[in-house]
Amino acid sequence: MAGLSTACHSVKKNFDVEIFEATKNAGGRCRSFYDKKLGIEIDNGNHLIFSANSNFLNYCKLIGSKNTLKIYEPKFHFFDLINQHDWSIKINDGPLPFWIFNKNNRVPDTSLIDYLSFLKILVCKETDTISDLFYNNKILLTSFWEPLTLGVLNSSCDQASAYLILNVLKKTFFKGGKFCKIIQPEQNWNKTLINPSLEYLKKNKINLNYNNSLKKIIIKNNFVSELIFNKDTKKVKKEDMVILSTPMSMLKKIFPNIILPTENNTILNIHFKIKIKSKYNPLFGMLNSISHWVFIKRDHISVTVSAANRMNDSDSNEIAKKIWLEVSQVFKLKKKLPEYQVIKEKKATYNQSPKNIKLIQEIKNLPKNLRLAGDWTQKNFPCTIESAILSGKNSLIIN
Ligand SMILES: Cc1cc2nc3c(=O)[nH]c(=O)nc-3n(C[C@H](O)[C@H](O)[C@H](O)COP(=O)(O)OP(=O)(O)OC[C@H]3O[C@@H](n4cnc5c(N)ncnc54)[C@H](O)[C@@H]3O)c2cc1C
Repeated sequence: MAGLSTACHSVKKNFDVEIFEATKNAGGRCRSFYDKKLGIEIDNGNHLIFSANSNFLNYCKLIGSKNTLKIYEPKFHFFDLINQHDWSIKINDGPLPFWIFNKNNRVPDTSLIDYLSFLKILVCKETDTISDLFYNNKILLTSFWEPLTLGVLNSSCDQASAYLILNVLKKTFFKGGKFCKIIQPEQNWNKTLINPSLEYLKKNKINLNYNNSLKKIIIKNNFVSELIFNKDTKKVKKEDMVILSTPMSMLKKIFPNIILPTENNTILNIHFKIKIKSKYNPLFGMLNSISHWVFIKRDHISVTVSAANRMNDSDSNEIAKKIWLEVSQVFKLKKKLPEYQVIKEKKATYNQSPKNIKLIQEIKNLPKNLRLAGDWTQKNFPCTIESAILSGKNSLIIN
């Protein structure tokens, strides 16, 4: 997404642009494809967008895909598997959180006074994890902070940076419901983000060089002078700008001395081919379960398990059976296991801990005509589509 955003924003600024992509498809970690086993199109994973994501919304406007978005009210449903209890939180408009004053709109078994603990995040240190702040409020930790943190940071509460969560809250919950609306693509992410980006580039006569992987960068006098790809080599002038919008592993290859995070977190997604009409549309969180978030799509339902590293080597069929057992309880379905597809994205994001964020904040001394884009480069925000799009736009700012 960061590469496409860089390219589309370059067109807008009338820059000449050439794009190189290692694989045969665009989209990277946000892509859709026709799954032969299920006979339907699915996304690699479920991507949740908030109405606060203004860079995402402006980008959709630029590439002409805003009409493919579905926008839902800022209401978050939850289902607790142990006590079979469901509830929802609806965020009111405006910065004052009136929703916590309504008992039926709060996490069950919490009182108004519990929510005073939220103030702790306002004064968090950059070294704090979410668990450091909320370990002594078990209910809110497991029923509010954990689903939020796993969903937004793909990192467990005992690892996740409270500072990054605070920055997300400042743009969403603390501003009120208008900024917490749930955005989903009408069909899938290729139709909303990837194909319209490619069409926009094609219309502006920009081609993507697919299957052309960057292997090496030659640097002379602190300027990139050559890019060596598997197919060809490109000379780079001092006045050209190279925007590296690859995962951070590429930066490590070029500059082995830079210390970068090495811990990645998996997101596991399982798509069940079943049509369901549900009051939880378009998604709900699950508690005391393996499943974390369940997305209800037109022709399937899709379950996300975040920070799922423990399942990297687990048998997909076994995972499917266990998760179906959980999901079928929510919908009170007696149906046997539907057809499914399991996708494990083992490098969905890096582990967004205070220690790893500091390493990224310390990157410096890059060649003068080299810039970085990519979700991980937005030092104060998590790895998201919003960050990827913003990074592409920011990489073009002329100092
Ligand atoms: C399963 C899953 C669920 C997610 N859920 C959410 C969510 O709910 N909300 C949200 O906002 N975000 C979510 N994300 C994160 C979001 O998808 C990413 O932040 C975003 O897609 C990252 O885009 P990017 O361009 O920075 O990186 P990438 O998508 O990784 O793009 C990097 C590109 O560089 C190419 N490349 C790599 N090496 C080379 C090379 N040597 N030469 C040339 N090209 C190269 C790759 O092929 C790829 O196309 C999720 C991610 C996953 C995997």
